[in-house]
Amino acid sequence: MSKIKILPETIANQIAAGEVIQRPASVIKELVENSVDALATKIEIIIKDGGKTLIQVVDNGIGMSSDDARLAFERHATSKISTIEDLFNIKTKGFRGEALASIASIAQVEMYTCERDSEIGTHLIIEGNKLLKIEDCKTPPGTNILVKNLFFNVPARRKFLKSDSTEFSHIVEEFIRIAIPHHDIEFKLIHNNQTIYQLPAQKLKERIIAIFDIRKQLIDINLENDIIKIYGYITAPEYATKTIAKQYFFVNNRFFKSMYFLKAVQKAYENLISENQKPNFFIFFEVEPQKIDVNIHPTKTEINFEDSNAIFNFLVNVIRKSLTTFDFVPAIDFDNAPIVNFINSNSKSSIKNLEETFLHHIIDKNTQNLSQSKINFEEPKTVSTQSSKDIIILKNKYLLTNVKSGLLIINIKEALKQIKYEELLKKHTIHSSISCLYPIPITLTPEEENELHNILNEINKIGFQLEKISHLTYNITSIPSTIQADTAVDIIKTIIHLSLIQIDPDSKITETDVYKQIAIANSAKISINNYNEAQELINKLFNCSEHQYNFEGKQIMKILSLEEIDKLF
Ligand code: ADP
Ligand code: MG
Repeated sequence: MSKIKILPETIANQIAAGEVIQRPASVIKELVENSVDALATKIEIIIKDGGKTLIQVVDNGIGMSSDDARLAFERHATSKISTIEDLFNIKTKGFRGEALASIASIAQVEMYTCERDSEIGTHLIIEGNKLLKIEDCKTPPGTNILVKNLFFNVPARRKFLKSDSTEFSHIVEEFIRIAIPHHDIEFKLIHNNQTIYQLPAQKLKERIIAIFDIRKQLIDINLENDIIKIYGYITAPEYATKTIAKQYFFVNNRFFKSMYFLKAVQKAYENLISENQKPNFFIFFEVEPQKIDVNIHPTKTEINFEDSNAIFNFLVNVIRKSLTTFDFVPAIDFDNAPIVNFINSNSKSSIKNLEETFLHHIIDKNTQNLSQSKINFEEPKTVSTQSSKDIIILKNKYLLTNVKSGLLIINIKEALKQIKYEELLKKHTIHSSISCLYPIPITLTPEEENELHNILNEINKIGFQLEKISHLTYNITSIPSTIQADTAVDIIKTIIHLSLIQIDPDSKITETDVYKQIAIANSAKISINNYNEAQELINKLFNCSEHQYNFEGKQIMKILSLEEIDKLF
């Protein structure tokens, strides 16, 4: 008899629901985004007990017909895409068609909906994916959806919900992330009969002030080139805070998180605020939808950009420009990257091509022609050094080389991480797998083993194959072709541990996380032993799109100026 069983639809939906709906705030996000997609001009949100008892969203959008109302709760039911081309041109918030199906599998859902030009609306009740009632009714145009007793049928998940006030604070955060970019929509948020926000349709600036009360702080930014428009508000350096800052990035009116672009902001504020201070900002990117990775997981707030390196530089410039205009930065300080010093270098050209690479960057920055900055560095540039004296390898930790303005110091380990990481990103996928000549044994703790089961799918997807040998012992039989066999155990363990400590529902393990772990594991195994290897590292580093800081935010290189060296004596 076959051991394989097809999961009943309800259980399959509940499992999938776990991916989309982690807490009441996720329901808010999905429902309010649906209202925005339905072109509502007014959205009211009513919450009871941190969303555990009730989440209700009432909109005046286009509504649904009776047939559509029922279909909307089927998995992969969406009105927003129908062809694969549509997928690359998404302008709506949702498109996967799984939110309502997921929500209905783990809550008691009731919906009233009516199309704008229709007399008769629809009333529907669904519980744990079972349609209990569907009937005609009289209801105002738009959609009124009530989600009651979230996780009523998944006690294990309900148990993990935090206190009402914590869950409500997550709801408020999700609310803000949607309410700011959609300032032309009227919003109301009510918790336990108390009105928390009542926001009329208003200008972006007024919306931000209505939510945060920071009128005095705001400074306009607004600049565009042929790939991106950046606009919004930053805050004057004097308002930078040491506690949690209000830092919001949006792309095409969708909130996203980015450590990388955060670095750009920090760079722009360099020397204006101290290292432990953070500026508030509300930065909007507008790009062609094809330029961003739309295939985003519903709970994932990171977005991949096609020209991220060019956007990074442009963002620094946009912010600097506004700060300069507002007199916070002496204009001459603009673009003060150490790179300028390389150009005037009259040293025996040991880093001649290196200079050229820099020169390209400078030209790009100055012309701000960002499309040009997509210089194709596929083939590493060679650094034509005549004598090995030009690069010193210090204790396999640092590379030292002299430049006009002083001494360039490269942290080998941090550089290796970034190089490997960008290599993996470029390949974009590490799914190609090679089988190991000898299986590599790995022993897990019970907790690790349990988590391994949860993420086995992801681990297989990136190219690992594991075979169970006995309780807690496995053989790794295949590894991704991009990693070294002796890093396999480390990488798998790190992925498991990363997954174990995920508490933030926004940060599920992603492929980029895995790339990072591979890059970190890899950097520990490599040593730079001779001049050729040092040279190769430098070449590769300058072919990276980011070579000042790596993805962990660690500084890769520093220039010790002559004055600083003088001071040592
Ligand atoms: P998605 O938003 O990814 O399409 P959902 O499961 O969130 O998937 O919704 C399924 C479909 O139900 C939507 O494509 C839309 O046609 C319809 N729908 C959902 N909410 C609303 C709403 N508030 N107003 C009008 N239509 C809606
Ligand atoms: Mg949706």
